[in-house]
Amino acid sequence: MTERRVAIVTGSTSGIGLGIARRFAHAGHDVVLNGLGDTGEIEKTRAELEAETGAKVVFDGADMSKPDDIVGLVHRTEAAFGRLDVLVNNAGIQFVAPIEDFPPERWDLIQQINLSASFHSMRAALPGMKARGFGRIVNIASAHALVASPFKSAYVAAKHGIAGLVKTVALEAATFGVTVNAVCPGYVLTPLVEKQIPDTAKARGITEEEVVRDVLLAAQPTKRFVTVDEVAALALFLAGDEAGSITGAIIPIDGGWTAH
Ligand code: NAD
Repeated sequence: MTERRVAIVTGSTSGIGLGIARRFAHAGHDVVLNGLGDTGEIEKTRAELEAETGAKVVFDGADMSKPDDIVGLVHRTEAAFGRLDVLVNNAGIQFVAPIEDFPPERWDLIQQINLSASFHSMRAALPGMKARGFGRIVNIASAHALVASPFKSAYVAAKHGIAGLVKTVALEAATFGVTVNAVCPGYVLTPLVEKQIPDTAKARGITEEEVVRDVLLAAQPTKRFVTVDEVAALALFLAGDEAGSITGAIIPIDGGWTAH
């Protein structure tokens, strides 16, 4: 029997990350969950996922704003499972405000979690992946890795940074069986988006209903939110053997947003 592949999904206690972790466990990977949240709730999710899939599912509470925690997450996974095959850098936060009012400490935290965490995790994971001759690194970036929206200076800068980082590391890893890609979702209705609706309403002086219709879905020609399952399916494909020639790619999954 071939050995099960092992995947870390950062920020997988909620939203897109949890959907990706679930999809990977169902597809035969052992999975390391990570993220913030209520300890009891996280344990319930972990145990349910393990029971329904037969995968080994563990939780690691590494803080993605802390470089030592991030390196520790990779090394603890390699020690526990003897390998790390798939790294999904998904943890991310958002803050919406005009740049004049943007708190500098929020800027720093967004760069740490949304950009630098991927640098630290890839830096730690690559040596083992190269040595084993196989690795798949999927960064959940955003349509905001390709285009901007007002009032999201820190997020847009960090996600554009991910695009550059992905291309660079893909070139460095290309001959080692390791692929590095960015997935760029449009709007997905997760807690991250739900939380920014009132702030966007305030920043633009419009109602929350108008934010959904005239700001979020206005950007997406399909006029619907991208689903967590759609993003998870793409991440799983990129993690598979058949995606071996896809590397350094910045892949939109945005209902046509970045086509215009
Ligand atoms: P979410 O708020 O539902 O989930 C974010 C996850 O990151 C949670 O598990 C949270 O605990 C974790 N996290 C936050 N800070 C952390 C920290 N310091 N250490 C460890 N974990 C931390 O958000 P989501 O919408 O599922 O977003 C997931 C990723 O997808 C993010 O990178 C986000 O930028 C990206 N994205 C989301 C959308 C969208 O519309 N929802 C669109 C494009 C890209």
